[in-house]
Amino acid sequence: MGTKNAQFYMDRESRYGAHNYHPLPAVLERGEGIYVWDVEGKKYFDFLAAYSAVNQGHCHPKIVKALTDQAEKLALTSRAFYNNVLGEWEEYMTELFGYDKMLPMNSGAEADETALKLVRKWAYKVKGISRNEAKIVVCNGNFHGRTITIVSMSSDPDAYNDYGPYTPGFVNIPYNDLDALEEAFKDRNVAGFLVEPIQAEAGVYVPEDGFLKKASELCKKYNVLFVADEVQTGLARTGKMLACDHEDVRPDILVLGKAVSGGMFPVSCVLADDDIMLTIKPGEHGSTYGGNPIAGKVAMAAIDVITDEGLVENSQKMGEIFRREMSAIDSEMIELVRGKGLLNAVVIKPTQGKTAWDVCLGMKENGVLAKPTHGDIIRFTPPLIINEEQMMEAIERIKKTFNDLGF
Ligand code: PLP
Repeated sequence: MGTKNAQFYMDRESRYGAHNYHPLPAVLERGEGIYVWDVEGKKYFDFLAAYSAVNQGHCHPKIVKALTDQAEKLALTSRAFYNNVLGEWEEYMTELFGYDKMLPMNSGAEADETALKLVRKWAYKVKGISRNEAKIVVCNGNFHGRTITIVSMSSDPDAYNDYGPYTPGFVNIPYNDLDALEEAFKDRNVAGFLVEPIQAEAGVYVPEDGFLKKASELCKKYNVLFVADEVQTGLARTGKMLACDHEDVRPDILVLGKAVSGGMFPVSCVLADDDIMLTIKPGEHGSTYGGNPIAGKVAMAAIDVITDEGLVENSQKMGEIFRREMSAIDSEMIELVRGKGLLNAVVIKPTQGKTAWDVCLGMKENGVLAKPTHGDIIRFTPPLIINEEQMMEAIERIKKTFNDLGF
């Protein structure tokens, strides 16, 4: 337990740190499994799991061991030389996900940038689009990260305001709209369709059944690459290994991040077949830390945990319990419960001045941490190792919060 109170840490961050986040006032110092503890010793259910990075639970011993063992041996070589882990990790990933090649990066945004570069290279080298004419279709409400190019595709003013001039070459259409998609594809210069199988950041918008399948068929029909950003939906979060598996869709380019490392280390990657991946030649893309030996060992351990501990099935099962129980809560503040697996959201109806933020503050008092996204939507994404007893206890605490608020 820390010697200083929470306010001290919050004031220090506020004094010396940029104000680019608005955190809930919980100062955490320790985590284990589905729980975290604050500097005053209070224990919480972590129902955010670092925006789905900690699918395997905090400080999973197998992932910690992979990290510390490799850190003592060799941490970073850069890609100026080979290392003895990267190939093992690439083989592991390509076999597991069924692609020819993997390209490692660090953050989700970098992996998405990599995918965009691959689409453009493929557009010029393979599809035969004239230089600088390639277009990529994206969806309103998307969230792919924070770089200048990525915010150029965003429809959220908080993400793009005052960051112009913007990167050209993107066509925005409504999410979950196959007619708009087909219309956009009629332009022969369209080379790719970048999509989140569920729009998580936007508020866990689940498209209609069949949307992904039909979108991927349209991609084939119009010779457009289907690029799935599974940074948040991937790796068992939605009750399948990939959210695209719900509809048996195989993306041409698969983008992974977050839970690839179980929250231990920034690791992301892109998977694709040779006709796409080999359009990028030596020296044309990279990252100093991308593909470092710690990342490789941590990622293999983290994904082993998902398969060894049956997290796909557990996510599916616990998600059903969560939605059933939350939908049964009798509160006028709960407008809607939606999601898949353990990627869920509750839409809050502000009542007598009380908002989703107040609900989150109340849940914090009752020992459950979650955070509003886009105003009045609360995202609930606990680690996937949560069991039924723990889930029911957390739901009791959430119920109590609505009771405490009096609505
Ligand atoms: N893509 C999706 C779907 C995400 O949800 C996120 C982050 O929330 C990102 C990309 C960006 O990942 P990172 O924050 O690691 O850059």
